[in-house]
Amino acid sequence: MSTTHKPVVRRCVSCTHLKDRTQMLRLVRLASGGLGLDEGFGRSAYVCRSRRCLQDARRRKRIQKSLRIPNHPAIDATLATELDKIERHNQKPGQDSPVG
Ligand SMILES: [Zn+2]
Repeated sequence: MSTTHKPVVRRCVSCTHLKDRTQMLRLVRLASGGLGLDEGFGRSAYVCRSRRCLQDARRRKRIQKSLRIPNHPAIDATLATELDKIERHNQKPGQDSPVG
């Protein structure tokens, strides 16, 4: 009995590395014109759940380009929310490293 479950990999829009999709954030351009997060059918863009990739995707509007929706406020808001989660999770007291 061998259950070979092949991981489904997707390419990150920021670092272009292939990763298991369960480790990534998926944004979906819904047929309704809305934005889906980790669910829904439509054109999808994947980004690593890492600060670096989320920041890069946000700055360079990589999700917008990938989904071909240049002006969608929900994308920036979603990336900001995910970044905020990571920031809180990784918060190290006494270690303040400004970036940029
Ligand atoms: Zn990445």
